[in-house]
Amino acid sequence: MTERPYVIDEMITAKAIAARIETLCREIVAEFGDTDKLVVVGLLRGSFVFIADLVRELDLPIEVDFLEASSYGDATESSREVRILKDLRGAIEGRDVLVVEDIVDTGHTLNHVTHLLASRNPARLKSIALLDKPSRREVDYRADWIGFDIPDEFVVGYGIDFAQRNRNLPYIGKVRFT
Ligand code: 5GP
Ligand code: MG
Repeated sequence: MTERPYVIDEMITAKAIAARIETLCREIVAEFGDTDKLVVVGLLRGSFVFIADLVRELDLPIEVDFLEASSYGDATESSREVRILKDLRGAIEGRDVLVVEDIVDTGHTLNHVTHLLASRNPARLKSIALLDKPSRREVDYRADWIGFDIPDEFVVGYGIDFAQRNRNLPYIGKVRFT
């Protein structure tokens, strides 16, 4: 199958992302300042760049773990059924947990994942998403921290892919078919 040609228009610069992360991390440190160890849970794969930048701005004792939930596959439509493809390595009972996601779209993924993790009785459970598309919401879910609200555009870069490509762009761009 031949790929439909597209270009990527820059939407959020690397500099703007870095500045936003600094502000968010001050708020997260204020919230979790008394923690003995915060478990930072990245949702694979889209959050890997965000979590890497985030933890380096967090002056807290942390551990990092990952969880993978099913999402788009290689298409641009979100699936409503969320499956856990890879679970956490560690237990979170009695621990402080911060879930890190790339984008909240319909809300199904984070809604499902936070319910699942809450059922394991963490001490505190919070979530952060780099991007949010509020106009696309199907379930009532809002992350505790959001980097940027964006319109209903298909975005790539900064860890986020289109058919597994473009994750290595340092900025967030929107896909425009030509
Ligand atoms: P939700 O369950 O909230 O509908 O979907 C969240 C997931 O959909 C995100 O983790 C992300 O993988 C994917 N997603 C939503 N919007 C976009 C987008 O604009 N670009 C890409 N590449 N993935 C998206
Ligand atoms: Mg995802």
